[in-house]
Amino acid sequence: MNQEQQKILSERLLTAEQGVLGSMLIDGEAIGPMLAAVRPEDFQRPENRNIFQAFRELYGQGKACDPILVNEYMGGSYRQYLADLMELTPTAANAEEYARVLRESSRLWRLRTIGDKLAQAEQDEQDQFDLFCRRVRYMEEQGEVSYWSILFSSSDFSELLDNYMMIEEIIDYDNQVIDSLVALQEKVSAERATLKEAQAEQEEAKRQQEAARAELKTQEGEMDKLIQEINDREDELEAKEKDLQVSAQKLDSEIKRLEREMAAQISQVKSESGFLWPLSSNRNILSSLYAGRLDPITGKPDSHTGIDIPAPKNTPILAAKSGVVVTSIKGSGSYWSYGNYVLIAHSDGTSTLYAHMEKRNVSKGQVVKQGDVVGYVGTTGRSTGNHLHFEVRSGSTRKDPVNYFKDKALYVQSSGKKVALWDWMK
Ligand SMILES: [Zn+2]
Repeated sequence: MNQEQQKILSERLLTAEQGVLGSMLIDGEAIGPMLAAVRPEDFQRPENRNIFQAFRELYGQGKACDPILVNEYMGGSYRQYLADLMELTPTAANAEEYARVLRESSRLWRLRTIGDKLAQAEQDEQDQFDLFCRRVRYMEEQGEVSYWSILFSSSDFSELLDNYMMIEEIIDYDNQVIDSLVALQEKVSAERATLKEAQAEQEEAKRQQEAARAELKTQEGEMDKLIQEINDREDELEAKEKDLQVSAQKLDSEIKRLEREMAAQISQVKSESGFLWPLSSNRNILSSLYAGRLDPITGKPDSHTGIDIPAPKNTPILAAKSGVVVTSIKGSGSYWSYGNYVLIAHSDGTSTLYAHMEKRNVSKGQVVKQGDVVGYVGTTGRSTGNHLHFEVRSGSTRKDPVNYFKDKALYVQSSGKKVALWDWMK
């Protein structure tokens, strides 16, 4: 690691230390997670490590960990330093990120320190070995010098004692050199092992980080794709919904026009006071009510203009009242959503509409009696299954059809159960 890298690493560490402590100081909620995420050894700056320790001990004792208590716990001299830390960290929202950087940086820092120590130990070992070699070489240069010959070369007892002392010192010294050499070698290989372990740990962490990053990228890509799909679908559905509203409004004015146009004819067919149920009596379970409901196609809230009565394909549809057929067409253009539909105007100022038919059985201008078959159930137009969509208008204002069948037993499907409509509406 060069000087520049070391400087960057130490700045990163300091920033992360401040971020972690600042988050703990300004937000009590961050204390627990931070105590779990980082260790005191991760802090390089002694003041910071002390503050973290203070938090740890106060928290461990179940005490409140606000800045005032932390300062008191540390002897009262950290007031300004704590205030500065809080100033430097405007939000605790990034606490986890600070903790991650702190752990990562401190691991790199430890690696660097171990590397330095190893280099020093290797240097010491080399120096000791050089010294040992010099001594051995010196002995060799002296020829066949043995400790005994030195001893026996003494001319008197006092010299012998001196020589004896000298030999002992030499032996001691040699032993010391060898001992420390052995110790150093052990130290070097221990530190080499630690370094290797730390490097492996670092590599494993890096590998995991890269795998996580790759996975995140894949997930992000998938998420983007999904969001795009949802956006596209929403745009499409919004456009469809707008079409439908426009067509419903257009149909209202179209009905007014037709009723005016055929007024003379309509007034000649006397209508009954009540409405006949437009399907056989046992087809009495509604799948959708008038007004507020979720559109079955868009899934969005929609104002439903009639009621939906499911029935098998080709079930005969009956005229609810005697009257004159003012429309019998296959919906197209902006009316495509009704599919094959029939509209009957009645002399009492009401009109009834029958939509999504498989086949129509009447044509425009035809007089129909109450109960005549006007068409057959189908799923044409904007429909998700065989059913009759039935509308009632009075003076071209749409009405809730069920209000004309208060005496009839009608049902709705609610949470998969058949429920009496009038109970359900209460
Ligand atoms: Zn409907």
